[in-house]
Amino acid sequence: MTVIGVDVGGTKILARFVDPVTGAASGRVKKPTPKDGPASVLAAVADVVDELDPDRTADLVGIGVPGLVDGAGVVARCPNISGWDTPVDVPGELGPRLGRTVVVGNDVNCGALAEHRIGAGQGVDDLLVVFVGTGVGGGLILDGSLRAGDRGIAGEIGHLTVVADGRPCGCGGDGHLEAYAGRAGIEREARARAAAGERNALVDLAGDATIKSRHIDKALEAGDAVAEELIDDAAMALAIGIGNLATVLDLERVVLGGGVVDKLGQPFVDQIAQSAHVGGFGIEMCDLRLGQRLDDAGVVGAGILAADRR
Ligand SMILES: [Zn+2]
Repeated sequence: MTVIGVDVGGTKILARFVDPVTGAASGRVKKPTPKDGPASVLAAVADVVDELDPDRTADLVGIGVPGLVDGAGVVARCPNISGWDTPVDVPGELGPRLGRTVVVGNDVNCGALAEHRIGAGQGVDDLLVVFVGTGVGGGLILDGSLRAGDRGIAGEIGHLTVVADGRPCGCGGDGHLEAYAGRAGIEREARARAAAGERNALVDLAGDATIKSRHIDKALEAGDAVAEELIDDAAMALAIGIGNLATVLDLERVVLGGGVVDKLGQPFVDQIAQSAHVGGFGIEMCDLRLGQRLDDAGVVGAGILAADRR
């Protein structure tokens, strides 16, 4: 069986044919993401699908979107897509237009499914995949299937509280994991410290530009004390969150990916596993692994999701 996988990103929309069993992808149609709201985005998705498959050889389409998706495929909002701030029934609108069955999921959950079937999570039924990038997202696989939750919140590890009255999170909460481990949270703290007179290599290396994962890596390599402290904090926050979830859900394995993890690699994974501040019964009860940085994971995972949910 071949399905169509579509990844809707903040800047581009990509469609490919996907074999949901092997994860092999073929064909490729790409368009920029329209900036004038969900109606234009859906029209662009319909265009890439029809351009990829003009002869309608595939009758199933999986779509990953960067937003909150409920159990019926209604996308509540997409913060990274301008104008998408009201709920849209994507399968209801796109299914009839495409003449195909449409399944929609959150893009992070699609990436987690790809790790489960063809990446570092293979062979495990109960798995958490954590992506540490600008923010921190996660996807939860239980009994071999994605568990997204009725409201689409399952797996949202980034907003677990890890420190009471802790650092402010981008969501408006305090002390959330993402405020400590996400790249944007690390940048906020590094800049606040520099402004308070605590000069550090993170701010020195990035200047006025965004502090990237490579700046964090370089600052650590140079032995910068603030960078080391902030990465210790990130490892602590991840160890608390992952350890707690692994305990509650009796997880066999946790896979880590995303820009920060990809850059810092196995030493960062080891640091999390060995953190003194573990949650619950600890990380030693589960197998913590580096993800496989799969090509087009969002597209492949969207195809897998569609085949699973049909
Ligand atoms: Zn938060």
